[in-house]
Amino acid sequence: MGLPFDLLLAALREAALLESSAAILAWDQETMMPPGAVAHRADQLEQIAQLAHSLRTAPRVRELLAAAADDPRIAGDPHSPQARSLTEIRRRQERVDRLPADLVGRLAHATSLAQHHWAQARTAGDFAAFAPWLERIVALQREKAACLGASPGGEPWDALAEENEPGLTAAGFAAIFARLQPGLLALRDRIAASRVRPAPIDGRFPIAAQEAFVRFVAAQLGFDFERGRLDRSVHPFCGGSHPGDVRITTRYREQDLLDGLGSTMHEVGHGLYEQGLPEAAFGAPAGEAASLGMHESQSRLWENQVGRSAAFWRWAAPHARRHFPDAAEQLSESRLWHAANLVAPGPIRVDADEVHYDLHVAIRFELERALLRGDLPVAELPAAWNARTADLLGIAIANDRDGCLQDVHWSAGLFGYFPTYTLGNLYASQFWSAARAAIPDLGARIEAGRFAPLLGWLREHVHRHGHVDPAAEICRRATGSAADPAIRLRDLEQRLAPVYGL
Ligand code: ZN
Repeated sequence: MGLPFDLLLAALREAALLESSAAILAWDQETMMPPGAVAHRADQLEQIAQLAHSLRTAPRVRELLAAAADDPRIAGDPHSPQARSLTEIRRRQERVDRLPADLVGRLAHATSLAQHHWAQARTAGDFAAFAPWLERIVALQREKAACLGASPGGEPWDALAEENEPGLTAAGFAAIFARLQPGLLALRDRIAASRVRPAPIDGRFPIAAQEAFVRFVAAQLGFDFERGRLDRSVHPFCGGSHPGDVRITTRYREQDLLDGLGSTMHEVGHGLYEQGLPEAAFGAPAGEAASLGMHESQSRLWENQVGRSAAFWRWAAPHARRHFPDAAEQLSESRLWHAANLVAPGPIRVDADEVHYDLHVAIRFELERALLRGDLPVAELPAAWNARTADLLGIAIANDRDGCLQDVHWSAGLFGYFPTYTLGNLYASQFWSAARAAIPDLGARIEAGRFAPLLGWLREHVHRHGHVDPAAEICRRATGSAADPAIRLRDLEQRLAPVYGL
């Protein structure tokens, strides 16, 4: 017999073990699985999702949850880690209890199939083939949002976003974005008016050499290959089941060296966070990421604040020349640094530079909000997408493949998700400023290929805290403020002004 709170954690761990097994199946689906397994995999994922849900909603969990309040560590100190964890467990439990098991199963099944059909429709640029799937998913998401219920004055989007970024509402995000957008547009215009035009790096970079190069960089940044893997997928992601089993993926284009490297550094950032979570707390809030925005802050920081800095390229350029001797004359430090900071509008979010990236997010945010409210029929999505893209990015979309079919998220049932990318950008800028203040010679260390001090700072201020406290609180403690668009804009200015001579 243990204390009630420990028994509660043991019960939650059982569900987490099942869910982490599903995560490996989901990783496998994107990396290794033969197409013939599509239908069977959907059945497997549905079965596991229902089993895990039944474990989480078992009467015993509710009894333990009630008893945990009397645990001496909680009753005696409402601010103890156990008490704060219990608050988080309760928040999540209330949501799980509101979802019928059959809806959870239908969602897992439909999204597993829809992702497959999305991938085919995207390849063919055929929105009509995907539309019935998206209609099904939107209907299921609306059903889910209705079960969860929004806070007073809220909307369906809020109920779904709560899963990804606890506390984030559509109105709250719209307010953040309203402070960010004018600064982004102003910076974009100044860059467009600059006479500096960085030349892209072109040439052929053999995939095998790229793979060797990005693996070398990943290991130098601190990714532990004894506790993780790096594979390929169409859409890079970070999955896995445990801090000792982190699965990141990347992609390669033979003519684009920076794409494979940037994607890898991004996923390495996610992977470092996962590997840095307290292993002993697996299945408990203390062992989990604080939010998707927090997760994204880690990936963005390594991809952008580190990977687009002059200091990084002073270290990385000689290694690039070593891996690609045939292209060596193109791979000077300053050429690579400039190319890594190329700012130009484009249709694809994952290829977007730092100035345009959040504008892509805003388009998706508006549209999914309208889809969920029932204000935008799925059939009208391509036209609405293209109109907003023309408006905000000044770009015409010729094929839905480069428009509303480009992202996997909606087919995977991930609504109320895109804005976490923008929050991640904001957090990343704040962590970067705070880490630079705490490690005065950070640039010199990066230039020397010493990334451990930065990783150590992130471990100390972010990773080791798991999700005992909300993401906004972790950010405030580490940086002195909650998500702040002004800090983001200042950081962007500092990174891009030297490149463009602003
Ligand atoms: Zn990411």
